[in-house]
Amino acid sequence: MHLFDTATASPAPLIPRDGRIGMYVCGITPYDGGHLGHAFTYHTFDVIARRLRADGVTVRSVRNVTDVDDDILRVARERGVGYLELGERESQRFDRDMADLGLLDVDASPRATARVPEMVEWIARLVDAGAAYESQGWVYFQVDLFPAYGSLCRLDTATMVKLSRSRGADPDDPRKRNPLDFVLWQPSRDGEPHWPSPWSAGRPGWHIECTVLSASELALPIDIHGGGDDLIFPHHESEIAQAVAAGVPDYVRHWVHVAMVGYHGEKMSKSLGNLVFVRELLDEVPAAVVRLLLSAHHHRVAWEYDRSELARAHARWDAYGAAMDTMSRFSIADAQAVRDGFMSRIDDDIDTPGALAVLDDLAGRSLHSGPRGVGDVATAQLMAPLLDVLGAPLATG
Ligand SMILES: [Zn+2]
Repeated sequence: MHLFDTATASPAPLIPRDGRIGMYVCGITPYDGGHLGHAFTYHTFDVIARRLRADGVTVRSVRNVTDVDDDILRVARERGVGYLELGERESQRFDRDMADLGLLDVDASPRATARVPEMVEWIARLVDAGAAYESQGWVYFQVDLFPAYGSLCRLDTATMVKLSRSRGADPDDPRKRNPLDFVLWQPSRDGEPHWPSPWSAGRPGWHIECTVLSASELALPIDIHGGGDDLIFPHHESEIAQAVAAGVPDYVRHWVHVAMVGYHGEKMSKSLGNLVFVRELLDEVPAAVVRLLLSAHHHRVAWEYDRSELARAHARWDAYGAAMDTMSRFSIADAQAVRDGFMSRIDDDIDTPGALAVLDDLAGRSLHSGPRGVGDVATAQLMAPLLDVLGAPLATG
């Protein structure tokens, strides 16, 4: 399988070590249900895992839960509930949404709050190495000492500063030596959860959480680390910086990022309120239809959801079901060619639209060839395992 690697901006072969692949996908801050943007991201990594498992590769997949940050503390305050209670309830709801969408269970979903002492240790290592500095109880990573900062996102300084502001950082923070320095540790305000550290009673920054959780759960270098492409900067850029500066020069082998889903002309996001929740779609159509809808989009191409997509995916699902109900059969060589065609599309940077084209062609041939009793492989036999790779199982009637 070849996966496009954000770090090199080119496709690179994914080679399992001892038949194993470790995959870390950045999870959510749990204070709401899953929306279609989440679904597109996690669906993509699920297809990667399913494809690898179909080849006998052992995949260990990890998706963290950011159960302490500014957002969850704010929402917990607004709703008058404890942040841990809110986080636990909402992450269970999110997990249910993803399970009902047919995603394979992840092997671990570590909570940020469970490993704060390790985060403190990691930050202390950065301070000792001179890569981070303390100011009034806050600790920042010093990007000036890390010339490679910006090499993952390939953005100039001005654009990074602007983007950091829109993604939760404060480039005007007077304690910072450089506007791009990012928070490793911050003192907690009154009433906020806090942990002891050499600098203040406080809590970790978001970026250090994922570096520590991924390094705790998976062998280094991590084979696949990814998420939505809005995480490239500053989140993953900063993860690389703090890993390398702490003595992990080879942190990740493949950075994989999934494009954003838009709705009503804007990126689908909580802050804009233009969300299509997974649950709403699952109330309307079978999960396999949603998976076919998602599969119709290449994971690196941003797209905009509109309801006509649901009807198109449903029509496709119906056509596949009808094809599987036919008595059509294929020769072993013919069936193998279809399988190879499908897998070669998936192996080419998860080209799910291309894989669907192979299935469309197979369905068309089955439906138009009329009943044929000859051949060794029935359409259903051929199609079912391929649909499984997309997480879109079809019951045969
Ligand atoms: Zn992360």
